[in-house]
Amino acid sequence: SRPASVGEDRPRRLVVLAGPTAVGKGTLSAYIRDNFPEVWLSVSATTRRPRPGEVEGIHYHFVDEPEFARMEQDDELLESAVVHGHNHYGTPRGPVEQALREHQMALLEIDLQGARQVRATMPEALFVFLAPPSWDELVRRLVGRGTEDEEERNRRLETAKVEMAAEDEFDVTIVNDDVRRAAEELVSLMRSH
Ligand code: 5GP
Repeated sequence: SRPASVGEDRPRRLVVLAGPTAVGKGTLSAYIRDNFPEVWLSVSATTRRPRPGEVEGIHYHFVDEPEFARMEQDDELLESAVVHGHNHYGTPRGPVEQALREHQMALLEIDLQGARQVRATMPEALFVFLAPPSWDELVRRLVGRGTEDEEERNRRLETAKVEMAAEDEFDVTIVNDDVRRAAEELVSLMRSH
C-alpha cells in the first residue's frame, strides 16, 4: 500500500461553510457544536467584543487589535478578513492542522473572503455554501434582527446581494430552511465525503 502522503487525509476532512450575511451560519454552527461532538469546530479569533453569553475559547478567541496583528504577522492564521467594515476575524492555523492530523472532521464557519483564501491554499477541502430558502427570506432575517440602523441594513443588503452570487464558487449548496435539517444534511455530507 502507498505510504500516507502529507495531507492526504487532510483536505477531504476539512469542510468550509460560508454564505451570505444573516443566512444563519452562526446558528447552524452553534447547533452542530451542541449536537454533533464528533465534528471539530474551529474557534476563530476576533477583535469584536463578546456578546452576552459568549465564552472565550468556545465561541471565539477574543483578542485586541495588536494581538490580532501579531497573529497575522507570525503567520498563525489560516485566513483572515475584515467583516462588515471593522472587526477582524481569522482562523487559527495550529488547531485546524492538529484536528486534521487526528483525523477529525473539521468545520470552518467563516465569511466568503475567508473561504476564498482557504480555497487558494487548501483547494481539496469541501466548500459548502449555505443559502437562504429565498431572497425574501434573507431580507426578512436581515431586517428581523433589528440590530442595525437603516443605513447599515442597506449596506448589508447590498453585500448580501453580491454574496449570493458567490454560490457558483462552491462545491455544494445547503439551504438553511430549518437549522436541524440543515445541520443533519451538512454532517451526513461530511461523513460521506
Ligand atoms: P459574528 O460577529 O456575527 O459572530 O460573525 C460575523 C461574520 O464573521 C460571520 O459572517 C462569520 O461567518 C464571520 N467569521 C467568523 N469567524 C471568522 C473567521 O475566522 N474568518 C472569517 N473570514 N470570517 C469569520
